[in-house]
Amino acid sequence: NPVIGIKNLKKIYRIGDQEIHALRGVNLDIGKGDFVAIMGPSGSGKSTMMNVIGCLDKPTSGEFFLDDVPIMEAHDDELALIRNQKIGFVFQSFNLLPRTTAVENVELPLLYAGVPAKERRERAIAALESVGLGNRLNNKPNELSGGQQQRVSIARALVNNPVILLADEPTGALDTKTSIEIMQIFQQLNQSGKTIVLVTHEPDIAEYAKRNIHFRDGQVVADEQVKERRWAN
Ligand code: ADP
Ligand code: ADP
Repeated sequence: NPVIGIKNLKKIYRIGDQEIHALRGVNLDIGKGDFVAIMGPSGSGKSTMMNVIGCLDKPTSGEFFLDDVPIMEAHDDELALIRNQKIGFVFQSFNLLPRTTAVENVELPLLYAGVPAKERRERAIAALESVGLGNRLNNKPNELSGGQQQRVSIARALVNNPVILLADEPTGALDTKTSIEIMQIFQQLNQSGKTIVLVTHEPDIAEYAKRNIHFRDGQVVADEQVKERRWAN
């Protein structure tokens, strides 16, 4: 079964008596080991789609299975648990705690998951080493470059070994060279089996993924394998 199985998914936001149809019947399967870039104009439903896949927001109707769990039937407390256990989030603006060291930032999801302190520290160090930051464990975010901060946030997203890594404009705040370094990390993670979904406005960045999905007016209007894939070496 796919990691993500979505059929005829709709999301309607209601503001007073106004209805906003943000997703209008999306069909989408994402298999284990896939690497998807979601693209589309502003307002086309990309964020709504990511919030749904990330179990932050419940769809209005349709089918949605995440790692075989029927999400439409899950209650809010179950969704919170699924988020912690199955999903790693990476954001455009890193979202690190400012007065907290790299290793402590990466330990946070394990703290919420109730992992004992010694194991937390070991796993956080291993995650930071896997993104090339083994020598920055005790630095705070303002002592790190943007690219290093994003690597800390990728380590934090990975430390719980999620089934899927979701990244919303992960290179949006970075220069081109640093963006490519981040895409290299995603490509390495994907090659070792991690399923990745990212949103990007940049066609160049999307070509580092395996598959590009275009949204428009709340629907998937194109879904294709990347023909001339870029490699960040
Ligand atoms: P994108 O990420 O592609 O810019 P969004 O998913 O943010 O698109 O938005 C899709 C549509 O849903 C837009 O019309 C947007 O204004 C609307 N929308 C998004 N989030 C909300 C919300 N929380 N409440 C009401 N409308 C929303
Ligand atoms: P982006 O395209 O980066 O998602 P947006 O402006 O679409 O930026 O959305 C920023 C935030 O505002 C998101 O959390 C989104 O859900 C929310 N949002 C977007 N449109 C609306 C809306 N019409 N009403 C209420 N919240 C909205």
